[in-house]
Amino acid sequence: FEDIKTFDPELGEAMKKEIGRQNDHIELIASENFVSKAVMAAMGSPLTNKYAEGYPGKRYYGGCEYVDIAENLAIQRAKKLFGCTYANVQPHSGAQANMAVYFALVKPGETVLGMNLAHGGHLTHGSPVNMSGTYYNIVPYGVNDEGFIDYDELRRIAHECKPKMIIAGASAYGRKIDFKKFREVADEVGAFLMVDMAHIAGLVAAGYHESPIPYAHVVTTTTHKTLRGPRGGMILSSEEFATEHKLNKSIFPGIQGGPLMHVIAAKAVCFKEALDPGFKDYAGRIIDNAQALCKGLMDRGFKIVSGGTDNHLMLVDLTNKDVTGKDAEKLLEAANITCNKNTIPNDPASPNVTSGIRLGTPAVTTRGMNTADMDVIAEAIALLIEDVESNKTKAMELVKTLTDKYPLY
Ligand code: PLP
Repeated sequence: FEDIKTFDPELGEAMKKEIGRQNDHIELIASENFVSKAVMAAMGSPLTNKYAEGYPGKRYYGGCEYVDIAENLAIQRAKKLFGCTYANVQPHSGAQANMAVYFALVKPGETVLGMNLAHGGHLTHGSPVNMSGTYYNIVPYGVNDEGFIDYDELRRIAHECKPKMIIAGASAYGRKIDFKKFREVADEVGAFLMVDMAHIAGLVAAGYHESPIPYAHVVTTTTHKTLRGPRGGMILSSEEFATEHKLNKSIFPGIQGGPLMHVIAAKAVCFKEALDPGFKDYAGRIIDNAQALCKGLMDRGFKIVSGGTDNHLMLVDLTNKDVTGKDAEKLLEAANITCNKNTIPNDPASPNVTSGIRLGTPAVTTRGMNTADMDVIAEAIALLIEDVESNKTKAMELVKTLTDKYPLY
């Protein structure tokens, strides 16, 4: 970082400010986390210099003997962590991992059943502005009036539209997902089941959420959310299925070129960290903190979609607070609390405005914050939403107590 500041002061200044922002703010974006120094060191290492198209032992470039070791370590550890027999650690992102699965399993124009974006699904599960919604016939399923996935409706829709693939997994769903039920439905209609466990991968690794591996034909994930690794993606499966459907080929040469070997090295570090018994403790604390934050907010009159959370995130329904998601995001930012506006199921407001915010605890838990601290955060949020003018100073004091107590890096 010192080298950057000297060579490029303009960029150095922006980076310094971003590092300062991360330290001074309470990070409640559910998909963000703070990586370890070892993960960061791998990402900033000379492995970024290496071209390694292909896979370990079968590369299209010379000089790959050491990056082969790094990629094999990442693969072996991923398989051990998630108890599966196939892992591809090359996807540059979660979106790329998903795209590779589409590429391998469904032909353009075929039907895919994905969770409605407005009910918590991800763009890559069928949004019209995404590749998935452009090339495939997407049929959405969603949640019931209580905010839980409606499995009966899922089954009904699946029987009606006979999809080639069903995608389970979400970006804004605070409840456990029943992968067994998804597989039953997939089998009834002869569809592939893809599970995108990006958000909950760390909780799955630690055993706090049922693993999709025994049920899904193929599992995709990101490595940077609850799993606390570098920004990137991964595909997991059982060997037979992966070989039969050429998942490796789908990533390279299908949709990607050279793998990012520095990121793959960082994934290897992340998986080693997640295999450590200390990670189970971390994942457990993420959920304790999410439930404590949820309670703190509900005690202060906030509505939570589905009435609570089983995982690392919650969707706050602001319809009784006379404030939009967009405005709430700004109000929280006024006292250094970062979150994102989010549609709630059947949201009366547009996706750019929304009636909700999504809050998650992976990042604050990494900083060391505990359940008592979550009540302080809930208090700060309530103060800001109630009356930002009168309460901003008080909320800022609460935030500063926490950010001072738990310094980052
Ligand atoms: N899948 C899910 C469920 C996600 O929530 C996300 C990102 O938020 C992705 C995939 C995409 O990951 P990336 O941003 O790495 O492409």
